[in-house]
Amino acid sequence: MRCLSLFETASLLKKRMFFIWKRNNKKFTLKLIREKNLHFTAHFCNSMSPMQVTVVILKPSAIQRGILGEVIARFERKGIQVVGMKMLSLTDEMVSEHYAHLADKPFFGRIKKSMQASPVVAMALKGVDVVNVVRQLAGVTNGRDAQPGTIRGDYGMSVQENIVHASDSPEAAGIELARFFSESEIFTYPQFLLPFTYANDEL
Ligand code: UDP
Ligand code: MG
Repeated sequence: MRCLSLFETASLLKKRMFFIWKRNNKKFTLKLIREKNLHFTAHFCNSMSPMQVTVVILKPSAIQRGILGEVIARFERKGIQVVGMKMLSLTDEMVSEHYAHLADKPFFGRIKKSMQASPVVAMALKGVDVVNVVRQLAGVTNGRDAQPGTIRGDYGMSVQENIVHASDSPEAAGIELARFFSESEIFTYPQFLLPFTYANDEL
């Protein structure tokens, strides 16, 4: 998928800001996120490259069950490059922004508590069409419905305690990257096996 230009990203984010504001009728601190996101987008996307960066959060369910390594290994084996990774405790503000699309659901409080039950591990993952690839690897939301072979399908029995979060679009990935990482926490370094991971015309 083509990366967005700065102008396109800005207008998309503007729409998203308005949409979120209208839906929940409250102000979000998205201005800062938008500015940071433009910076990240400029850094990672240029119109000539199909490379994307996406965000994965290894949820408290992954940490408590001791499967961090196994889940991370799946992304590595696929050929995806890890360009950022850290453990952090999610703040109220982070969870509220991150799950703003679920704010009016009766189970919102439960999700919040679940995401703050322990630290999480946030990862920034880079690859061609990686947003879509990682969503496929994660599987559908409900672990009981997720296909065997997917992370949620292999490790999850729950809708809520479903091991991983994965950005659902390139725009969301940009916003989430800025939400969970600072610029110095995202790395650019050569991937020496790149010629064996992709053909020339795929890069
Ligand atoms: N969730 C839940 N109950 C629901 C829907 C969602 O507990 O009925 C939780 C679940 O942990 C999910 C997260 O809220 O991963 C975000 O929901 P979303 O619909 O964005 O699913 P995802 O993108 O994670 O598959
Ligand atoms: Mg989602």
